[in-house]
Amino acid sequence: MRCSECKEEAIIKIPYAHKYLCKEHFIQWFENRVEKTVRKYNMLEGTRKLAIAVSGGKDSTTLLHVMTKIAEKEGIEIIGITIDLGIDMGKKYSAKSVEFAIKNYEMLGVKYRIVKLKEEYGFTIDEAKVKIRRPVCSTCGLTKRYILEKVAKEEGADTLATGHNLNDIAQYVLTGYYNGDILSLARLRPVSPAENGYIKKIKPLFLSPEKEIMTYALVKGIPFIYDSCPHTFRVGGETQDKIRRSIEEMEDKIPGFMISLVTNFEEKFRPLMEDIPKESLGKCKICGMPTSKGREICSFCATRMKLTEVKVNS
Ligand code: SF4
Ligand code: ZN
Ligand code: ZN
Repeated sequence: MRCSECKEEAIIKIPYAHKYLCKEHFIQWFENRVEKTVRKYNMLEGTRKLAIAVSGGKDSTTLLHVMTKIAEKEGIEIIGITIDLGIDMGKKYSAKSVEFAIKNYEMLGVKYRIVKLKEEYGFTIDEAKVKIRRPVCSTCGLTKRYILEKVAKEEGADTLATGHNLNDIAQYVLTGYYNGDILSLARLRPVSPAENGYIKKIKPLFLSPEKEIMTYALVKGIPFIYDSCPHTFRVGGETQDKIRRSIEEMEDKIPGFMISLVTNFEEKFRPLMEDIPKESLGKCKICGMPTSKGREICSFCATRMKLTEVKVNS
């Protein structure tokens, strides 16, 4: 097929936009959409230093490349943050992921910080899987959220960007409806303002389908880890996996399904949720980070104490 813009050979079909695009026009299309998303949702308003969470996978490395370009135009400083989670399982998954993240930082000349979970916090995610009864992805998610927040603040960043893509957000929206979990839906935002001691969080890829991110990473020659994590993939297990697969099947049947689901949620339902009272937070007695009201110790410090079997005082 030929590109709808220039008649060169097309490399991708964008069914919901009725377009075929060549390499050059696809790169332009992809970058434009991220930039438009960032502007439409005022993601960088007031940002002076942007922290980018980079795991080494296709989403976060793509995020790093595109946001570096946007930040340069805006005169915003960037710092990459990568956590070595200590996931090995005979596959050296974390070691390889960190290597890929570093390759990208060096390619782009971006400053970065690598946090080694074992050295700095005394445990690995592989150990958490064995020692803690809740699903490993739940402990891993908690750990990543905590460390990213803490390190971004330590590095003087006022905004933290993560690589959640359109498929992830469509899955969260539908799962939230399915479970009637209105509080999770209220928290699910492309931009979470700085409040309650947390810094601002943004999701610049929230309207970018996974397939387009993969294509962008491949045609741009972005190095990323292709293997998936050897641990169970999703916090909610089978049901969430089925919801995700069903959404992707719906996208094949109704092109544009995911974008409509997510933008309608954001633009039509979100304003109705503004009155839902926000959780008021306390301060963790151990680390000073925000904690759920009524709890003296945050979930991360509690988990860390269980895993390291020592009293944490840092
Ligand atoms: Fe962590 Fe689970 Fe993701 Fe692996 S799949 S990196 S354990 S959240
Ligand atoms: Zn073209
Ligand atoms: Zn704490």
